Amino acid sequence: MSLRLPVPLSCLALTLVAGCRLERRVPAVSADLVLRGALVWTADPDRPFAEAVAIRDGVLVYVGDRSGVERLIGPGTEVLELPGRMLLPGFHDTHSHPVSAGLELGECNLYDAETLADVERTIRDYVAANPDLPWIRGNGWALPIFPNANPTRQLLDRLIPDRPAFFYAADGHSAWVNSRALELAGVTRETPDPAGGRFERDAASGEPTGTLREEAMGLVASHLPPYSPEQRLAAARRALSEANRFGITTITDADVNDVTLEAYAELSRRGELTARVTAALASEVESSIGKEVERPRAVRERHQRLPRLQVNTVKLYADGVIESRTAALLAPYLDRPGDAGPLVYQPEDLAARVVALDREGFQVHFHAIGDRAIRVSFDAVAAADAANGGRDRRAVLSHIELFDPSDIRRFRELGAIASFQPLWAQADGYVTELTIPALGPARSRWLYPIASVLNSGAVVAGGSDWSVSSLNPLDAIEVALTRRGESEGPGPAWIEEERVELPAMLAAYTINAAFATYREHETGSLTVGKQADLVVIDRDLFSIPAHEISERRVLLTLLDGVEVWRDSSFVRR
Ligand SMILES: [Zn+2]
Repeated sequence: MSLRLPVPLSCLALTLVAGCRLERRVPAVSADLVLRGALVWTADPDRPFAEAVAIRDGVLVYVGDRSGVERLIGPGTEVLELPGRMLLPGFHDTHSHPVSAGLELGECNLYDAETLADVERTIRDYVAANPDLPWIRGNGWALPIFPNANPTRQLLDRLIPDRPAFFYAADGHSAWVNSRALELAGVTRETPDPAGGRFERDAASGEPTGTLREEAMGLVASHLPPYSPEQRLAAARRALSEANRFGITTITDADVNDVTLEAYAELSRRGELTARVTAALASEVESSIGKEVERPRAVRERHQRLPRLQVNTVKLYADGVIESRTAALLAPYLDRPGDAGPLVYQPEDLAARVVALDREGFQVHFHAIGDRAIRVSFDAVAAADAANGGRDRRAVLSHIELFDPSDIRRFRELGAIASFQPLWAQADGYVTELTIPALGPARSRWLYPIASVLNSGAVVAGGSDWSVSSLNPLDAIEVALTRRGESEGPGPAWIEEERVELPAMLAAYTINAAFATYREHETGSLTVGKQADLVVIDRDLFSIPAHEISERRVLLTLLDGVEVWRDSSFVRR
């Protein structure tokens, strides 16, 4: 083979050789904005730390030391001096539910209720403040507050006797309703449990007690008045601005249907998307495999080239959740002899769907919680690999709570991404009361093994599952470092071996998460040429104890160099 270079390449080589001299002769075009004086953490392995960045036309044109940025400061350049602050790439959230969370923000919110008394007070106040609502809708009740995670309709009847009421649990996998709601839905003692769902019942009478699991929720929820397009648009706007407040510039909505997608598309068309959005299209369990592919293909077709909106991912549920014993395990729940929990799809069916979606170029995003669900999700990705050949498929496994340790290596082997919700990796009521007793200590050792997954060479990305839990990445980062509740203060870690260090978690919320949505060339690190998506935090996270991370605040969030959030305490100029 001749070593003659094609012409364009040799030109490039000449330019590179002359680069230094050239740079000095040509006056630098000044930047629009320079930020300096902060500790800059870049997420770029070639230069993890820097002292200054410069932005022009929404793009990073400089990342480096303080003196080097001088030549980019002209008369029109805004310079922000940020001593003591930390500057890093905008955060990415690889699994959340922004539109539904935005809608919930306007309803009866129980996320902050820690006791039964809190729940009762919050509901009473909301009902009194909203006398004209035909339904009382609410969200966010914590399963551990109620015996057996099983609140009763009689309790809700006392609080809301005159109108139907429907309250989703914080994890979205259970609902609590009153007697009026059951009546309206025609649910009685005779109503059988639907496939994939369960009405909790009184052991003696067989009467529904008011708690609905999984698919049973839909039988009552279908009677709720629908949201209007305006309500959803407002909810999307509210949710993205909430995300910006926590420094989030890229977010995956992990369960998008036609109407929520329309809200994002409309915001995109209006130039009002204040974060990059990845829409993971909800699959329909009951649909045939052909439909499973046809529908998202048509939706993808209709939503090409919408700024900041990416529509090329399909979300599949492999199982439910451990707390309500609907997660699929390899061995039975200790408190339900013989019952290892259901899979949403039979393994061959899941694999066939994934093969078909993968053949069409879709990325697949799994909800996988139990060790069996994780295994069959990996098997489905392996089937896609065998059927369609190696390609850059980046399957995402989300939640990933309980592992059989022998499966951990499969992330790396299959190029799959581990999307943890690190906030859950703490010994709170969900874990100590509703999870460990069902698994026993040996299996519980493999709950949220973030360090083991990292050490296996997997790409670990972070996500919130908001509104299931806090949207704030700093809350989750702290818990991953401490394996303790974010308000608990210092003390022993839960499963010490699985604690991780700060750089790994920052990468999980920046460059790795950008990789998880095929955006690593555009954003995810502070690298010259990438979009200027960045966040200023009030303190350098490397210089404070891990248990204080969740107390730090985001002062400024930029998307494409444009301010999308600024704390009232932070003044520009
Ligand atoms: Zn979710």
